[in-house]
Amino acid sequence: YPPERVRNFSIIAHVDHGKSTLADRLLELTGTIKKGHGQPQYLDKLQVERERGITVKAQTATMFYRHANNQLPASDQPDAPSYLLNLIDTPGHVDFSYEVSRSLAACQGALLVVDAAQGVQAQTIANFYLAFESNLSIIPVINKIDQPTADPDNVKAQLKRLFDIDPSEALLTSAKTGQGLSQVLPAVIERIPSPPGKCDSPVRMLLLDSYYDEYKGVICHVAVVDGALHKGDKIASAATGRTYEVLDVGIMHPELTPTGVLYTGQVGYVISGMRSTKEARIGDTLHQAKSIVEPLPGFKPARHMVFSGLYPADGSDFDALSHAIEKLTCNDASVSVTKETSTALGMGFSKVQVENPAALASNPGKRIAACWEPTVIATIIIPKRRGEQQEYTFIDAQRALLKYRLPLREIIVDFYNELKSITSGYATFDYEDSEYQQSDLVKMDILLNGQPVDAMATIVHNQKAQRVGRELVDKLKKFIERQMFEITIQAAVGSKVIARETLSAMRKNVLAKCYGGDITRKKKLLEKQKEGKKRMKRVGSVDIPQEAFHELLKVS
Ligand code: GDP
Ligand code: MG
Repeated sequence: YPPERVRNFSIIAHVDHGKSTLADRLLELTGTIKKGHGQPQYLDKLQVERERGITVKAQTATMFYRHANNQLPASDQPDAPSYLLNLIDTPGHVDFSYEVSRSLAACQGALLVVDAAQGVQAQTIANFYLAFESNLSIIPVINKIDQPTADPDNVKAQLKRLFDIDPSEALLTSAKTGQGLSQVLPAVIERIPSPPGKCDSPVRMLLLDSYYDEYKGVICHVAVVDGALHKGDKIASAATGRTYEVLDVGIMHPELTPTGVLYTGQVGYVISGMRSTKEARIGDTLHQAKSIVEPLPGFKPARHMVFSGLYPADGSDFDALSHAIEKLTCNDASVSVTKETSTALGMGFSKVQVENPAALASNPGKRIAACWEPTVIATIIIPKRRGEQQEYTFIDAQRALLKYRLPLREIIVDFYNELKSITSGYATFDYEDSEYQQSDLVKMDILLNGQPVDAMATIVHNQKAQRVGRELVDKLKKFIERQMFEITIQAAVGSKVIARETLSAMRKNVLAKCYGGDITRKKKLLEKQKEGKKRMKRVGSVDIPQEAFHELLKVS
């Protein structure tokens, strides 16, 4: 297959608009997978995706399709030229735009799927711009036209208004009933350019993804940009300079299918004796060994979307946790990890960029001139209410689009859930990183019997400190059980205590109910009490249940 007969494309959509279902139909239509193969949404491979119903890790499949004249069905044209189509599946969820842009790097076009009833949503907009900035040809697909509430004309008008897409370009489909699906692949072939690239240059390819297979070792997904890659070739990594011999090369059809060669513009897999996925850096350029090539642009660095601090419940499990995290980071370049230590929780890991509040002095005094905090540009689409609201952009008569600059921390805790609940689920949300802005931030310490608990320290806006301190202290009072001595719970900014509660002492005598002298029963009860204590974290002499830590994270 010369580049003229190769097309590389992705499907992008707001979550639930039908991307995975459409991908499955296209794989069936081309005979790549059997119809009713019993595994819905073939491309959603990972277990986590099945459980949550979202596509997390991009998967790729190669299909073959005969196409000469889109007026006639392919079956009537046995001599029609065959095309090699690479469908690069992208995750549709807002949290994974890093993977979306990664997938798009190997594409020349994208199907932009929009639900005919729901219309353009926040991630439709985000994904459109990712594709647009990558100079991809965009084919609008208005899906789910079988739904009784489908309004394709309204969606066409939205696409025109928001993206300047000509309404005549839109394909109308139902991935459920099959209606309109026969137009999709002809449009891919006719409207998406073939991959650029120099066929007779030394081989140069982009490393799209990698994973470890127990039997085959490290498997790299690559897009061959220039030249051809043959089994037996010697290749080198631009990032590490290491060289490898190509042991196996082929396509995902959809399972690994050896072909012995990948030509310019093709997407497939390479096995080259790498020992760990750490050697297969996603976004790296692999090229013919001993030739000097310019590395490909790679990808935008991962944008961190999910932040968490991880600690083993039992300190002796630290090595096991460490091992598990290492495995995860091996397979996923978008996760980064740093070690951290908390006096309350022992040793643990933070998944990057979470600045430990402990690092900020409680009494910065004159040493810190200013605090800066990260902000985001948030795009929110909400059902329109009555009234004059001139600062909105209207998508159509029913919905408005709002753009705000918000501090990042405002959206980390529960923002999405709250937005959904106040709009009865109708609002959609997306955001992109923006600059740092100067902010009046202070560190708030939580003290138990006068001792600061560093896992509970938070950084808050000065104006919110009073309210947050009060909430934290109230929550803690609920979750910490009374103990055999009095406990004072305080929230403090610097040396100033802004909220305080006291838990009075109580002796919790588990033996009180035991009459007589049954020593084994007494022992059992004492054992049980000990077990319960294991689930507590002991700070100084105060036991703090796990739930208290979880609850505290919800206050901001
Ligand atoms: P994704 O999140 O974009 O990958 O969406 P899915 O492919 O998982 O589809 C979301 C839901 O919409 C599933 O329940 C599908 O069965 C359903 N769905 C997909 N396409 C259609 C369609 O054309 N018509 C109808 N009525 N439902 C569809
Ligand atoms: Mg999906």
